[in-house]
Amino acid sequence: MLIVMDRDATDAQIQAVVAKIESLGFEAQPMPGGERVAIAILRNPGPVDPALFVDMAGVIQAIPVSRPYKLVSREMNREDTVIHLPGLDLGRGHFVVIAGPCAVESETQALTIALSVKAAGARIFRGGAYKPRTSPYSYQGMGKAGLKILKKVREETGLLIVTEAVDQESLKLVAEYADIIQIGARNMQNFSLLLCAGRTRKPVLLKRGMYATLDEWFMAAEYIMSEGNSQVILCERGVRSIGEHARNLLDLATIPVVHRESHLPIIADPSHAAGRRDLVGPLARAAVAAGADGLMIEVHHEPDKAMSDGAQSLYPDQFRTLMEEIKGLKPGGW
Ligand code: PEP
Ligand code: MN
Repeated sequence: MLIVMDRDATDAQIQAVVAKIESLGFEAQPMPGGERVAIAILRNPGPVDPALFVDMAGVIQAIPVSRPYKLVSREMNREDTVIHLPGLDLGRGHFVVIAGPCAVESETQALTIALSVKAAGARIFRGGAYKPRTSPYSYQGMGKAGLKILKKVREETGLLIVTEAVDQESLKLVAEYADIIQIGARNMQNFSLLLCAGRTRKPVLLKRGMYATLDEWFMAAEYIMSEGNSQVILCERGVRSIGEHARNLLDLATIPVVHRESHLPIIADPSHAAGRRDLVGPLARAAVAAGADGLMIEVHHEPDKAMSDGAQSLYPDQFRTLMEEIKGLKPGGW
């Protein structure tokens, strides 16, 4: 249930609705909008009677929310969410490209790549300091030393930083060092990690699990939002499928469907979908054409020497070309 308040509703009227919701044993989450405040009712085991609220002062409507996800739902918030980053917005028409290596490997590597992607127009640098690898014998990332390198990249280039947290311990550090916390595909249903990310006040980039339905992905975002963090960016990175011509199947349909079902921004990661660099450009362009709010692209200046995902990493020149092509697809600019 969503209680929509009149645009002139007073604080006391809003508080009275909150108190009423709490007296019923539910949680109230006020959501200030551009024009008016709406109050979401959460943790109600069944439907709530709208008649309990419609006569209260300052209330103009009580809307039942039909979806299992509430805060994520477009029913709750008609306006697209904008992710506010230092000096940069993402979503509601603000298109942003994130680029960088799969993993931070050294200061020289990170800075070299960061300068090249910045020159091509990327605004956010990616690079894993904690790598969730299929094999325990594969490169696991530099850990805190990697975060320190990312901090240096931010200081030297002005690029914002997104990096993955793989558990609660790394999440604390990532929240301290990065501008955006990434939750990877393998952790999309790590509910305790999602709750911890929800308790931070840093934007969270939530990748779709490789087997996750759209509803499961939305419920994962709901976990984060239920803790009061509304700054969630969804990232489609492909799902498991038949065929070995690509690593995963980039599910482009999610882009318009997410825009219909949710107010959260959605970006695409064609690199982890493709698994090979020759497919990254076509998938990236397709995602932009489908309405993605941004892209995440892996780039490496020496992909043959990369500690992970070299085969799908674009050379800086290829990334620059792709950025030009994307600008052509967004004639209104970005
Ligand atoms: C990554 O972005 O480095 C990554 C591991 O991606 P995913 O979680 O989508 O596999
Ligand atoms: Mn990778």
